[in-house]
Amino acid sequence: MKKGIFLLFGLLGLSVIGQENTIQKAIETGSFDGLEAPTQPKETEFYTPVPPRVNPYGKNGVPSDAVVLFNGTHVDNWELVNGGGKVPWLVDIKEKSMTVSRGKEMKNSSIQTKQKFGSVQLHLEWKSPEKIEGKGQGRGNSGVFLQGRYEVQILDNIDNKTYSNGQVASVYKQSAPLAMASVPVGQWNSYDIIYHAPVFNAEGEKTKSASITVLHNSVLVQDHFIIKGTTEYIGWPKNKSHGKAPIKLQDHGNPISFRNIWVRNLD
Ligand code: MG
Repeated sequence: MKKGIFLLFGLLGLSVIGQENTIQKAIETGSFDGLEAPTQPKETEFYTPVPPRVNPYGKNGVPSDAVVLFNGTHVDNWELVNGGGKVPWLVDIKEKSMTVSRGKEMKNSSIQTKQKFGSVQLHLEWKSPEKIEGKGQGRGNSGVFLQGRYEVQILDNIDNKTYSNGQVASVYKQSAPLAMASVPVGQWNSYDIIYHAPVFNAEGEKTKSASITVLHNSVLVQDHFIIKGTTEYIGWPKNKSHGKAPIKLQDHGNPISFRNIWVRNLD
């Protein structure tokens, strides 16, 4: 008799869980065809998954689950794009910054993370040199490249005209920003980027494009833009298959400074 009661409650429990799963799936997919409409509040309340707890202001003000890429003390998480050697950029421990620098004979000192990433939330801060030199694309130019291929432009655009799809916070040569939200030259800007990596099938064809949302000093400047492919200086965007890849910071010949760089994996 006891066994029978346990079995009955067990089956009832399973059927309730089954019903919950059906409703949860319907809500997640937005497909409600053939299902009876819920009549009780509880039917559309779910307790799983339980979101992990994140301290938004962890060590040094960085979210507790973030990977710190640069905190102002060393460049050990970075390497040269060309050849993978030591980073020659100037670290200022007092200011907690690093500044693009080539040394004497180097042609390009662009750097990349040693770690490879897919979809990420990325925070970084940058500033243009106070001494204004050059114009157009030649003034305060750098850039952050997601997966080493897709550039969000960094440029001193204060009273400095250039093509819209190459100005500060553009997805280079693809998408002009929704606003020019730079602070005055010499002050720190922030970028907060939500990036979803493209997907390629086994044949190397792209089955899902990358997308990007960018906040420039908390102002929305790229709103879930669908990236068309690599951000080329000359020619069409390219869509060659790739996996996880480093985040790159560009040396474009201007002494741009960076600080407080961290990333949260979204894969
Ligand atoms: Mg650039």
